[in-house]
Amino acid sequence: MTTDATTADLTTTAGLLSAIEYPAGREILDPATGEVVGRTREGSAADIDSAVASAREAQTAWAARPIAERSDLLNKAADAVEASAEALAELLSREQGKPLNGPNARFEVGACSAWLRANAAFELEPEILVDDGETHAELRYDPVGVVGAVGPWNWPMMISVWQFAPSLKMGNTVVLKPSEYTPLSVQALVAVVNQALPADVLSVVPGDGAVGAALTSHDGVDKIMFTGSTKTGQAIMRTAADKLARITLELGGNDAGIVLEDADPKAIAGDLFWGAFINTGQTCAAMKRLYVPESLYDQVCEALVEVAGQSPMGVGLEEENVLGPLQNKQQYDIVARLVDAAKNGGARVLMGGDPAADQPGYFYPTTLVADIDNDNPLVAEEQFGPALPIIKYTDLEQAIEWANELEVGLGSSVWGTDIEECKKVAARLQAGSTWINKHGAVDPRVPFGGVKKSGFGLEFGVEGLKHVSVPHVISW
Ligand code: NAD
Repeated sequence: MTTDATTADLTTTAGLLSAIEYPAGREILDPATGEVVGRTREGSAADIDSAVASAREAQTAWAARPIAERSDLLNKAADAVEASAEALAELLSREQGKPLNGPNARFEVGACSAWLRANAAFELEPEILVDDGETHAELRYDPVGVVGAVGPWNWPMMISVWQFAPSLKMGNTVVLKPSEYTPLSVQALVAVVNQALPADVLSVVPGDGAVGAALTSHDGVDKIMFTGSTKTGQAIMRTAADKLARITLELGGNDAGIVLEDADPKAIAGDLFWGAFINTGQTCAAMKRLYVPESLYDQVCEALVEVAGQSPMGVGLEEENVLGPLQNKQQYDIVARLVDAAKNGGARVLMGGDPAADQPGYFYPTTLVADIDNDNPLVAEEQFGPALPIIKYTDLEQAIEWANELEVGLGSSVWGTDIEECKKVAARLQAGSTWINKHGAVDPRVPFGGVKKSGFGLEFGVEGLKHVSVPHVISW
């Protein structure tokens, strides 16, 4: 670090960078322009050892504070995030690529303070299980200890808050390992939040997957919270078995949306589009394949093309843009490969699919693909980018079967005017969340998690607090 976080002005982007930058460190490049955003320290297994030791040391005193006091500090952390909001959003936009506007950088920073405040407000009182005059039994929720949290690059700040806010509320201390693609955003957020928290209660060690593995396999970590790919989640679960660490896994998805016959294409087009293209499609619970009945197919395709045409893509700091680049080359290549597979499979590209060859940045144009077979790779694999396959169906049973046939089950959605009919279809979908006439609309009060290979454990709400605690029954 060049400047002590306590002396830097954390309400400016320059101040944030001066507090966290490491001049001899690795360059982080803006995915929209290729310009240097800053330099990050690269942590090591030794840094994980020392961060976990400090977190253990701090945990007893943190857990001993009354829960109301911890909640109060979470609200103060939210105040600090709000005071630095614009600076955080600008740094996030430059490092991650997402525009300031639309459901992107400012929205993400807003969600950070919203989730901090929501967790501050939740109440988890001991549950009285039996009280019949002879036996009294109650269920309490104790801290687990030290939480090791590993995150992805798509929503780096917001997902970190999802991990640490409930953990801190319940009396745990937390060591974060952000994605190697977005370390500055998380370090900046932690510098801001730590203005409100005691030392060593929340810390961050940047680094690659090996540093993540050093954290998740560490003997001093009692609970692992992981958000990222299914493959990494499986690797983490294997190492967690040795020490029987508790785990929450929020993994990849390939969410289906099903439009029903009575839907109004023009009325739903905006929400359909943003359900798929939020954060330029780089969202775990974005709609990644859309099933539309033959009777509405052309109308839905036309309405989506119209919304897409009104949604500019470009450099994030330019206020008019609402879609940005892919965050990294690896993800760009995945999207390009899958759209090529769609074209090679005879699908009809309604728009996009033709990235410019010599542009700076990882921009892949907004792409809508029609008349695509359900077994095409663009449908069957997670694209995690701005390319939506629209699949025609003639039989609702077939659409439900297609929606359920993959190994993952994070989110899903049903679109129609008869809510009771929508609910009947929703109940048959295999997913942790099914939204009606919206998609991916997470809410800090409503539990969120996956089924099948999308992971297990819940985040958000009072249920989320239970997942960062250990149950303890006391009876007499
Ligand atoms: P990733 O699995 O490649 O990396 C995630 C994190 O794990 C990074 O910080 C990485 O350094 C770390 N890591 C890598 N190997 C590790 C190991 N062996 N042990 C411990 N940590 C290790 O995922 P990504 O590419 O950053 O994120 C994209 C994926 O995440 C997509 O599949 C997406 O659907 C999923 N995702 C899920 C959610 C959710 O809430 N379910 C949210 C966001 C993203």
